[in-house]
Amino acid sequence: MESALTARDRVGVQDFVLLENYNSEAAFIENLRRRFKENLIYTYIGSVLVSVNPYKELEIYSKQQMERYRGVSFYEISPHIYSVSDNTYRAMKTSRKDQCILISGESGAGKTEASKKILLYYAVTCPTNDRMAALGDRLLQSNPVLEAFGNAKTLRNDNSSRFGKYMDVQFDFRGVPVGGHILNYLLEKSRVVHQNPGERNFHIFYQLLNGGDEMLLKTLYLEKNPHNYNYLAKGNCPRVSSINDKNDWKVVMKALSVIGFTEEEKLLSIISGVLHLGNIQFGEGEEGETYITTETQILLGVDGSALTEALTHKKLTAKGEEVMISPLNFEQAMSARDALAKAVYGRTFNWLVEKINQSLALKSSSVIGLLDIYGFEVLQHNSFEQFCINYCNEKLQQLFIELTLRSEQEEYETEGIAWETVQYFDNKIICDLIEEKHKGIISILDEECLRPGETGDLSFLEKLEDTLGGHPHFVTHKLANGKTRRVMSREEFRLLHYAGEVNYNVKGFVDKNNDLLNRNLKEVMCQSDNQILSHCFHREEVMDQKRPEMAATQFKNSLMKLMEILMSKEPSYVRCIKPNDAKQPGRFDEVLVRHQVKYLGLMENLRVRRAGFAYRRHFEAFLQRYKPLCPETWPNWHGRLADGVSTLINHLGYKPEEYKLGRSKIFIRFPKTLFTTEDALEA
Ligand code: ATP
Ligand code: MG
Repeated sequence: MESALTARDRVGVQDFVLLENYNSEAAFIENLRRRFKENLIYTYIGSVLVSVNPYKELEIYSKQQMERYRGVSFYEISPHIYSVSDNTYRAMKTSRKDQCILISGESGAGKTEASKKILLYYAVTCPTNDRMAALGDRLLQSNPVLEAFGNAKTLRNDNSSRFGKYMDVQFDFRGVPVGGHILNYLLEKSRVVHQNPGERNFHIFYQLLNGGDEMLLKTLYLEKNPHNYNYLAKGNCPRVSSINDKNDWKVVMKALSVIGFTEEEKLLSIISGVLHLGNIQFGEGEEGETYITTETQILLGVDGSALTEALTHKKLTAKGEEVMISPLNFEQAMSARDALAKAVYGRTFNWLVEKINQSLALKSSSVIGLLDIYGFEVLQHNSFEQFCINYCNEKLQQLFIELTLRSEQEEYETEGIAWETVQYFDNKIICDLIEEKHKGIISILDEECLRPGETGDLSFLEKLEDTLGGHPHFVTHKLANGKTRRVMSREEFRLLHYAGEVNYNVKGFVDKNNDLLNRNLKEVMCQSDNQILSHCFHREEVMDQKRPEMAATQFKNSLMKLMEILMSKEPSYVRCIKPNDAKQPGRFDEVLVRHQVKYLGLMENLRVRRAGFAYRRHFEAFLQRYKPLCPETWPNWHGRLADGVSTLINHLGYKPEEYKLGRSKIFIRFPKTLFTTEDALEA
């Protein structure tokens, strides 16, 4: 039988379980490095795919390549994202069980590119019928639209996703993709009003200014130069060499029309409205009152004077009906303006996702879910956003442990092989620390927002210390003996995450969790002529006196739902690694990679995978591959498959401690055994 693997494919080992020294991180990284140098960016840990961003176009994604992977098992061919796509698809078709592919890794590691490649694989290789041909298109076209509104240039990635995304691709019983559904998580709204040096706002703003024709810009009262807009000028980075805003604009407009969008005009007037909002300036009167110094026009489909009033005053409802109006000071007015811009953009983004979902919706029998969500994040300064992101990663790790161990255990049971316990770190203790009712960090934060102390964020930190001091995974500058830990700032708390330690600065936690928008701003927005906005700001929300859920709790609840969705599916994993910080091809920075191997928990992953049996194969597949090695099984074995496998391995001289035969599979304990057998095949 011809092997689909070439000599080059065999640089290093293509599955880490075959590493002799599987406990050695150095050996692990050396294997990654050797393969990366040969442009072999994919390697397995069992069925987990590890992918290293090549930062260059490789010739491995063509249609011919897709054909190579169709219907071929993992181990018969070089590791590839298409192999994961194909195996997942076949598992869905044969077992009728929903599947999901979880993609993780830090910013710039290649998660979004991986998810796009999977989607493309299905769009190209799955059967379709005429009615459905357009659906594949719509699924694919949802990407440029969401990226325009949800991605931005950051220091770490020119096209960084600033939201988490879970997408279901729905298939009918014949395996035809018939629909889709997207869930989005925690858009980084603060970017709308502020960008760090060298970073940009969301792509759509620049696309509109660069790509929109003169007529359009005129009707939106926009000028081409991004520097004229406060919300675009902060990062001082209007152009990025790797991005062609003008072209991307065309792509996005085309995509919107493929999706069947009819509200472009309204959508773009919101985008321009946000830019104009950012240019509103305030002055301060003698009494400390605030007024608007810039010319106000009709923005966001609302009356200019109503908006002016709402941006400079606050409406308070005391004792039910009684309404009091109080003027805002300069600072408050600025933050009211920014809060409005963030709310408008954030809600419009959610509306957009909803709209795309309507265009993809259809009833289906099975799904493959794709999760492209922010990886574990440790920055110089970590704030509320990193806290949420890292919490999300704790949850995903928990899910990973549960699902991996569960599936190992189930497989052993169905195959009738005794289960051997595997030792691993259970991160439930950290999840509880964050999410537990009444005494978890999120609860304490909510409590602080509801009943704020004198010093805002700092009283939040004090409450944390009171409740959680002494917890093995929680540290502040206060030591148990009353002394202070000098290496930590008084504004920080440290969490010992499963992946490592992170210090969080509490500054801004309370505000960000509150995510408040003054009531009169909401009232004004409800009356917008722009139907997207009047849809996004409900009248009921203004009438309802109940406080909406706070940001962290909302996020927690959406994560719980996500966990439920994922738990009901069979998972596959893609772990993405960024080889260097310079976005350059060919460079492999070992220190950087080592960090990620740690944060992604890859060594632990390998250990669990190796704890029992390194390899397992269906009798049929095993026999099919190795039958040339034994005269009794070659060219064909006519008896029971299990007997064929026994005959074959007896002939090969496998020792009893090297393997076990289950009901339908052979389990091989040591990689070396399989190595030797593979080598015999090559000889
Ligand atoms: P973020 O968390 O910031 O969204 P990410 O993990 O989604 O990051 P991507 O946007 O997928 O990262 O990848 C960053 C860049 O790396 C891409 O724009 C592309 O230039 C390059 N890249 C990633 N994967 C590949 C690949 N398989 N082949 C070629 N280039 C790639
Ligand atoms: Mg991304």
